[in-house]
Amino acid sequence: AVPLVVAISTALSAKNGLLIRNRTAFENSRKIDAIVFDKTGTLTEGNFGVNRVEVLKDGMSESDFLKIVAAIEGSSEHPIAKGIVKEAKARELELPSVSDFKAEKGKGVMARVNGGSYAIVSPGYLEGENIDIPKNAFNEDVETVVFVLKDKELIGFVSLADQIREESRAAIEQLKEVGIKVYMATGDNEQTAKAVAGKLSLDGYYSEVLPHEKSEIIEKLQSEGHFVAMTGDGVNDAPALAKAEVGIAVGSGTDVAAETADIILTESSPKDISRLILFGRATYKKMV
Ligand code: ADP
Ligand code: MG
Repeated sequence: AVPLVVAISTALSAKNGLLIRNRTAFENSRKIDAIVFDKTGTLTEGNFGVNRVEVLKDGMSESDFLKIVAAIEGSSEHPIAKGIVKEAKARELELPSVSDFKAEKGKGVMARVNGGSYAIVSPGYLEGENIDIPKNAFNEDVETVVFVLKDKELIGFVSLADQIREESRAAIEQLKEVGIKVYMATGDNEQTAKAVAGKLSLDGYYSEVLPHEKSEIIEKLQSEGHFVAMTGDGVNDAPALAKAEVGIAVGSGTDVAAETADIILTESSPKDISRLILFGRATYKKMV
C-alpha cells in the first residue's frame, strides 16, 4: 500500500507546495477528527491596516505618538508591526532611532526611544500589570488593539483590522462536513477571536493564548479522545506542532516550526490544509 501513498503524496507536493517530512503522520492524517488553526495569516490575510490611533497622553500629538510606535515596530516581523510601519510610511513620518529592542512572544515589543522606555503590548499584558483597559479601546468590529506604555504608563493605543480570507469559510465547511471539529487558537484578544470564530462558524476558539498554552490546548483535545492536527507558523508554535498527531507548518514561517512539523505547506492557505486532510482520507479509502 505504501507505494500508492508515496506516488500520490509526491504528486500533490509538486502541485501545492507541500513537503511531507513524516510519512507516518501524513498517513495518519486520515484519522484526524479535530484541527486547531492559528488565526493571523492562516484564517485571516495577516495583512493589517491601522483603523484608529488614540493618544491618551496630554500634549502629545498623534504624529509624535505614531512616530515612536512605528520606529519600534520597525524591528518586529509581526504582521501587526508591518501594519503600523505601513501607516507611518503613508503619513510620511520621520522615525526616531531606537535602542534596546526586545520582543516578548505572544505579548509584544519593548524598546528605548529618546530616553523613554516603551512597550507596545497586548490587552493581556495590561491585565497582568493591573493597568485598566480604556473603555473605548474595543468596539463591535473585528479589531486587534495594541497598547503603548511609556515608563509603565499607558499613553495610547492603536487599533488595526485584518480580513478573513475568502477561502477560509469553504475550507472549514468541508472539514466540518466530514465530521472534523474545527478550532482556532490565537494570541489576539477575546472580542476579535469571538467575531472571527462566529463568522467562520468554528466549533470553538481559544483567545489570548500564550505560546506555552498552545500545546496545552492540543493536550486537552487529545485527552478528550481527539486525534489532532494543528497549524502554526512561528517558533512559539513548535511545541504544539510536535505534540499534535499531525503538525502542519504553514507559510514561509520559521525554520523551527518547519523542523518540528510533520508536513510543511509553503502557503498558509486553509484550502490547501482541508485538501490535504480530505486527500489523506480519500487515499486511505482507495487502499482498503
Ligand atoms: P497571533 O500569532 O495569534 O497573532 P501572537 O502570539 O503573535 O498571536 O501575538 C499575540 C498578541 O501579542 C498580539 O495580538 C498583540 O497584542 C501582541 N503582540 C505580538 N507582537 C506584537 C508586536 N510586534 N507589536 C505589538 N503587539 C504585539
Ligand atoms: Mg502567529
